Amino acid sequence: MTAPVAPTSPITQDVMTIPRKAAPGLPNLVGMSRDAMREALIAAGTPEKQAKMRVNQIWQWIYHWGVRDFEAMTNLAKPYRELLAANFVISLPEIVSKQVSSDGTRKYLVRIAGGHEVEVVYIPETDRGTLCISSQVGCTLTCSFCHTGTQKLVRNLTAGEIIGQVMLARDDLEEWPTPGAPKDETRLLSNIVLMGMGEPLYNFEGVRDAMKIAMDGEGLSLSRRRITLSTSGVVPEIARTAEEIGCMLAVSFHATTDEVRDKLVPINKKWNIEKLLQALKAYPKLSNSERITFEYVMLKDVNDSDEDARRLVKLIEGIPAKINLIPFNEWPGSPYERSSNNRIRAFADIIYKAGYASPIRTPRGEDIMAACGQLKSATERARKSRAEIAADVQG
Ligand code: SF4
Repeated sequence: MTAPVAPTSPITQDVMTIPRKAAPGLPNLVGMSRDAMREALIAAGTPEKQAKMRVNQIWQWIYHWGVRDFEAMTNLAKPYRELLAANFVISLPEIVSKQVSSDGTRKYLVRIAGGHEVEVVYIPETDRGTLCISSQVGCTLTCSFCHTGTQKLVRNLTAGEIIGQVMLARDDLEEWPTPGAPKDETRLLSNIVLMGMGEPLYNFEGVRDAMKIAMDGEGLSLSRRRITLSTSGVVPEIARTAEEIGCMLAVSFHATTDEVRDKLVPINKKWNIEKLLQALKAYPKLSNSERITFEYVMLKDVNDSDEDARRLVKLIEGIPAKINLIPFNEWPGSPYERSSNNRIRAFADIIYKAGYASPIRTPRGEDIMAACGQLKSATERARKSRAEIAADVQG
């Protein structure tokens, strides 16, 4: 078991602006499903008989080669490239700043249409590289341990803005293949987790369409098992996640009684622990090889007792599961403290002895506020946290 260690060495900060042509109000090909792209190409004058082939060609340029300029699509005739340029754009959100933690974690502040900002975090590990992406600007759910939850929901991200985060990270990691180079199966960006800002199941269609693009074998080609969607417990959409996306599922569980979960994850008042567990037991893709991850943030004297651990084991009985213990990452004004390392180890031990994997997540990128639950866009960070506002009201 690894004790959580906070990185201490200096941070490198680097601000970059990727020059992009301002979108002149033309439809963006990034984020369109194959069907939608086909329709759009026909509407722009592509003969119907050729449309499927054109989608394949353009799809590969955009999602396999990472090309943004129609001129570079050399297997398309020049007049057709001109037709595309006159009718469409290939446009991504813009990286406003990038911070690199002493542990290699990269946090990007990304600006989307309307000037809103979301955060995206890349976490390199020895056997994988995980990109944590956002699905909404802000969040409606106000989980009390979560920094993002102090920022009001502004809007859902479009499928293009969601898949755009993956493409931007690939740009920054310089990971697009080079024509003619031998195929390299090792990937810097090998996994995606929908654990950034927002509740992905409150933006179901956007997330689904973006993840279908990520999984498409002729483009980014990520296996569905390398994509994990994390929900706070939007019960009616859980089965749909397996059926329409097919990715792995994680649940922000965090408490073993409704009384405590109501406070930590207020959506529990709508769908309580019992209803959530029923939905998880019925999850269509559930098997020993496709376990559900239960995320459990360790909060001192709130949810971290031996009794909690034993109750947790009892609650999840019969569900193939892994329990991810997350040492709480404090943020300015946060109302909780992190459980001690000894407490976390004792808690993990009870779960482990009951037959469940119980890894303790090493906090990553704490020095750049990129760790779990710490995400909040810079514009909002300047404003008061909810805890500060509450203190003002009470004082
Ligand atoms: S934990 Fe997730 S669902 Fe809860 S407030 Fe934070 S971003 Fe929203």
